[in-house]
This record gives sequence, C-alpha cells and structure tokens, in this order.
Amino acid sequence: MRTIGVLGGMSAESTAVYYRELNRLVRERLGGLHSAELLIRSVDFAPIAELQAADRWDETGAILAEAARRLEMAGADLVILATNTMHLNADAIRQAISVPFLHIGDATAAVLKARGVSRPLLLATRFTMEKDFYKDRLKAAGLEPLIPDAPDRARLQSIIYDELCQGVIDAGSKARALEMVAKGRAAGADGVIFGCTEVGLLLSPRDIDVPVVDTAIVHCEAAVESALDPSLPGSSGIT
Ligand code: GLU
Repeated sequence: MRTIGVLGGMSAESTAVYYRELNRLVRERLGGLHSAELLIRSVDFAPIAELQAADRWDETGAILAEAARRLEMAGADLVILATNTMHLNADAIRQAISVPFLHIGDATAAVLKARGVSRPLLLATRFTMEKDFYKDRLKAAGLEPLIPDAPDRARLQSIIYDELCQGVIDAGSKARALEMVAKGRAAGADGVIFGCTEVGLLLSPRDIDVPVVDTAIVHCEAAVESALDPSLPGSSGIT
C-alpha cells in the first residue's frame, strides 16, 4: 500500500472526514484491521482564509507548495489537497512535487459522468463557483456546470465559512441550501456537486432526488484506488 499525503486543515472539519473515509475505504477493501498509510499536514486555516479574501493567491500557492513538498519529503507516495477551493493553486503544488497529485475535480468529473450527469449544480465557495479554475476542469470533461444566483452564492459562502468550517451545523442553513438545489433543478440541473468538502456535513445525498457527488468522498475513493493499485510502484501486496 502506498502512503497518501493529505494536505488539509482547510478546514479541519472536512479533513476529519478525509481521515475517517480514507481509513474506512482501506478497511472495506482489505478487511480486518487494515487502515490507510497516511501522512496529514494540517495547516492553520485562518491566515489562508485571509489571503483568499484578499485575492492573494500567489501567497497561498507558495504556502501550499511548500507544505506539499514537505509531505513528499516525509514519505508521501501521492498527494491530495483536501479542499476544492485551494485547487486554484493546483499548478503550484504540482510543480513543487515529483509524486502524483490527484486533482479533486478530475475525481468528481469521472463519477458524474459515470452516473450519467451532464448539467450538475455546483455548490461551493464563491471562489470555486465564480472563478474559472474549477468549472473549466469540469467543462474540459464535457460537463456543463450550473451555479446558484449571486444572493445564494453569498449565502452559501457564509454558511461554509461562518458555520461549517467552524463546526456549526444549522437546520435553517440546510433548508436554505436545499432551496438552492430546488432552484438548480428548476433551471435544468440533473445532478448536484457537493463542491466544497464541508457541504456533506450539512446535506445528504438522501435529501436530493438526482445523483449527488460529494467531492470529499470521491476524492478519498480515488486516493485509495491509487494507493492500492498493484500496478503502481510501492503497491505490491497489502503490506
Ligand atoms: N473546504 C472548502 C472547499 O472544499 C472550503 C474551504 C477552503 O477555502 O479551502 O472548497
């Protein structure tokens, strides 16, 4: 089994989901007492979020590239970044390391297509919804992502940063997010992307009558798939 390096803390709430899910998936695949070989580098999110809000993405890129480099030095055989938004810095991270970097958008697009979705509603931070880096990745895979209107994007941004990233789960916010889903469905969405790694803490696919892809979950699935792939170096057997 290869060692998965998780670049997390953005937020710590969703990195906890990654930790649980990566271990659960390895146990499901290998059975018994097996668990994932992991290295987790969890950053303090507050300074990163301040740089995001100030649109200082070169600086976040430098921080994350250095953190990824240290994960590789510590023995990570592949690296995943446990946030959609910070994939804006995917190129900077890739350039800093020589081990594979598994992009969350690629894992998401692959599962959406396998489930027959073509026009997914993207529920995410305003950076992920409004900038091109993430939607372009989905479009390159042949998808036509839809996003909520501006007032709903602002509401969702606040739900993510002021509540979910701080461990607050609010029933009113869940109702508002489900209203966004209903509007998206009326606008022609045939699937929903939980495009922020905390959205799955608020909503469940069971609440929604079209296919849902939770980016945190499919990202973990892709990482475990890769870590256990016997055709890759370091993955022979289950040791
Ligand atoms: N975890 C979130 C995401 O998947 C938002 C926090 C962040 O900006 O990293 O986009």
